[in-house]
Amino acid sequence: MKIDKPGTPPPEADQSRAPTRAETVLRGLGVSPGIAIGPAHVVDAGFVPVPEYVVPAAEAGAELSRFSEAVAKSRRQIKKLQAKAAALPEAAAEEITYLLEAHAAILTGSRLIRGVERRIAEDGVNAEYAVQSEIAEIAHHFGAMDDAYLAARIQDIREVGGRLIRNLTERPFQTFSGTPDGSILIAEEMTPADTALMDPRRVAGFCTALGGAEGHTAIMARSLGLPAVLGVAGLLRGVRSGQTVIVDGTAGEIIIEPSAATLAEYQARQEMLAADREQLKTLIDLPAVTRDGVEIRLMANVELPREVDTARSVGADGIGLLRTEFMFMNRADLPSEEEQYRVLREIVAGMGGRPVTIRTLDVGGEKLATALGRHFTECANPALGLRAIRLSLREPKILDTQLAAILRAGAHGPIRILLPMITSPAEVRAVRAALSLVARRLKRRRVPFADPLPPLGVMIEVPAAALGADALAQSADFFALGTNDLIQYTLAIDRGDESVAHLYDPLHPAVLRLIQFAADAALRARIPISVCGEMGGEPRYAALLTGLGIRDLSMAPSKILTVKRRIRTMDSVAACRRARMILDQSDPGRIAALLDDFNEAG
Ligand code: PEP
Ligand code: MG
Repeated sequence: MKIDKPGTPPPEADQSRAPTRAETVLRGLGVSPGIAIGPAHVVDAGFVPVPEYVVPAAEAGAELSRFSEAVAKSRRQIKKLQAKAAALPEAAAEEITYLLEAHAAILTGSRLIRGVERRIAEDGVNAEYAVQSEIAEIAHHFGAMDDAYLAARIQDIREVGGRLIRNLTERPFQTFSGTPDGSILIAEEMTPADTALMDPRRVAGFCTALGGAEGHTAIMARSLGLPAVLGVAGLLRGVRSGQTVIVDGTAGEIIIEPSAATLAEYQARQEMLAADREQLKTLIDLPAVTRDGVEIRLMANVELPREVDTARSVGADGIGLLRTEFMFMNRADLPSEEEQYRVLREIVAGMGGRPVTIRTLDVGGEKLATALGRHFTECANPALGLRAIRLSLREPKILDTQLAAILRAGAHGPIRILLPMITSPAEVRAVRAALSLVARRLKRRRVPFADPLPPLGVMIEVPAAALGADALAQSADFFALGTNDLIQYTLAIDRGDESVAHLYDPLHPAVLRLIQFAADAALRARIPISVCGEMGGEPRYAALLTGLGIRDLSMAPSKILTVKRRIRTMDSVAACRRARMILDQSDPGRIAALLDDFNEAG
């Protein structure tokens, strides 16, 4: 394999064009609260190693399809950037629109595209290498002409080529290893896999041009406690590496080169937040109980094993949602049973007897696992495609391996198994059958595992599951309400898309009715129900969920103490009355007012 460096960064990352300015404020979506102050580090998205290998003639067709997928994805990205550019001041919008139009044109039947296709078909090379070679040839050809206009076109071709290569390699943009300590990362986009690589001891916060508030990148930022603002129009043209940046993850603002007065104001706010965190610590050993004595279990959502310590340090009652996707990210192969078992064992043992709810693989949508890439490139609409439990049932080997690892980890402490994206009881029955087969095999291997078998529960995160909750309650042992996807699928709002983020409303009456529906079904069937979507971690919704009969909430560990503070000030009977009043309403504004008034009253 030959490793080389391709072209140059994409348009927005071209720092030579960014003007020097006094204090500038840019706005986006505040997805992870807190304030970070530090030097900007613009992530150089153009730097990706390019593999080179022979593609046999029989596989040329598949390689050409892989390339056209990457072209289509690049076009979609450019379209998104064009939509964002429209929000910029006129002159900047005009300049970037012109540039992006040029890039879009290159992706449509240009010499670059034709040349790459010819190289794949005739020279038998892989697509990344074909892109790199074609760019080199074009640059050589036009470079000899010494013409400023052509030089600019070559630059555009390199930028488009860099984008194509990144999309082909499906690599995270960067491992952030060379990032100076305390930096604010600035990038066009961060995938959840990229975010998982950030070390909060070294990175202070981050901002991106693309991304919505409820996507997994945002969730990961909140879990890591990293202030973050996503979907910032004009970001990469406004910031250069080394400039001082303030990220206000609560207000959704970033301030570039702040004045001395602004800096002092934000430093004072940082200190106030730190004081509040100290005050919250006094609640760690106190129970999460309402004024009238109703106990609420507060559990942790864990995306990465390193969060287990945080979960314990804030006194989590267990792990209410372990997203196992992290084991499948940032790698080209699938983890073995042994590898999964070791990681899970450490987490289960680390929780010291408190229950751990382990969710089976939930890749798909914007959570991609490179090793499973083919499943996602094949479908036109990944959020509705072969994702989560559908993928596990289609690939029994992946499911069985994971179930075996989970059952073995269950020998080290109490666990529950949770299934994502369930829409019908038949799916639960299929997994239950697989589970008993796997258990029988483990018994034959004389390997210790959870015996009796752990409870098998389902995520209620698709409207069909909420509406069919009575039937699901007959085959599932517990429910976990996944409000993130439930809102996405009920309102038809892509949770990761910043352009529709303003329509993503947890208090939409349709969403609340589905939550009530599922909660009532669980109470009728006497099975436990928890909320593990982001709504569960917002103090604003705690009274409403308690009022609907929910007694288990699972959230990012960093949220546990703020939710506990809210629970300790509320009365559960009054919350129940208020929840009923809210559910009688059909106007979202009135619903919000009823909830906020209740919260303000204590
Ligand atoms: C949800 O959809 O609410 C959920 C908890 O699952 P995820 O965010 O991982 O999709
Ligand atoms: Mg979900």
